[in-house]
Amino acid sequence: MHQCTAKGVNGELLTALEVRRLPTRADRNRALLGHVKSSMPANPLAPKRRPRRRHPKMLPDGARPGLVEVVNAARDAMVVTWLSDTSLRIGGLCGLHLADLHLREDAACGECKSPHLHVCHRWGNTNRAAAKIKPDWQMVDGTVTGGEIYRVSPAMISTYFAYMTTEYAKHATGHGMLLIQLAGPNIGEPWTADAARGMLRRAGRRAELPGRITPKAFRHQFTNDVLDASGGDPLVAKAAGDWASMQMLDEVYGHPDLHSPEFTEALKTVWGEEE
Ligand SMILES: [Zn+2]
Repeated sequence: MHQCTAKGVNGELLTALEVRRLPTRADRNRALLGHVKSSMPANPLAPKRRPRRRHPKMLPDGARPGLVEVVNAARDAMVVTWLSDTSLRIGGLCGLHLADLHLREDAACGECKSPHLHVCHRWGNTNRAAAKIKPDWQMVDGTVTGGEIYRVSPAMISTYFAYMTTEYAKHATGHGMLLIQLAGPNIGEPWTADAARGMLRRAGRRAELPGRITPKAFRHQFTNDVLDASGGDPLVAKAAGDWASMQMLDEVYGHPDLHSPEFTEALKTVWGEEE
């Protein structure tokens, strides 16, 4: 604008730059936190933002039983079950250490009375945005505390034991990570998120499921199902782990209770548990 005004060049651009736009929803959300004006300067030179997908891709019908039927390892049945019954990201799942699993009632961390796990970010990108939604964790007297806590279903525990007592007991080397490679020159070493994605993709093809099976679709499906079961309670949505879209709720309401009756009921419905 300065260049256009002072030098008298490109009057057309000057006019375009003077246009102001109404605040968007993102602006209004920021306004709730106390730093935004009622109208925003528009920048006609800014790249157009791609519209956000409003309906995230869910799993095809029958995905979980179809996949469990065709997988070739206890590890893979466990991965399908764990992705189905939580909102874990594939990176979080593949980064788990045995020490992060608190699968008994009243674990020593004292942070969640039912079986749960802690996703602790031990490495990876340190970008600020990611750090903001990933709480700190620490080891206190040999017990993991903090991180992101996810409640664990009975089916997750039984598939865990099926894997630990067979494939893990046979092949694991001493690294302490949960998911390991079961073949190849690095057998027993940690399994990567990419390998897990490949396993799901191939299993999806063998099970003749439509489209590509991705870890993200499990997450969307779980969050969607929990929300449905709770009648759309926003605090339940937050507890279910829809972190990114629920950031505002976090600011407004504070942290959700992983043991609220509403969340517990919704989980039971989604996990298919009988009273
Ligand atoms: Zn714990």
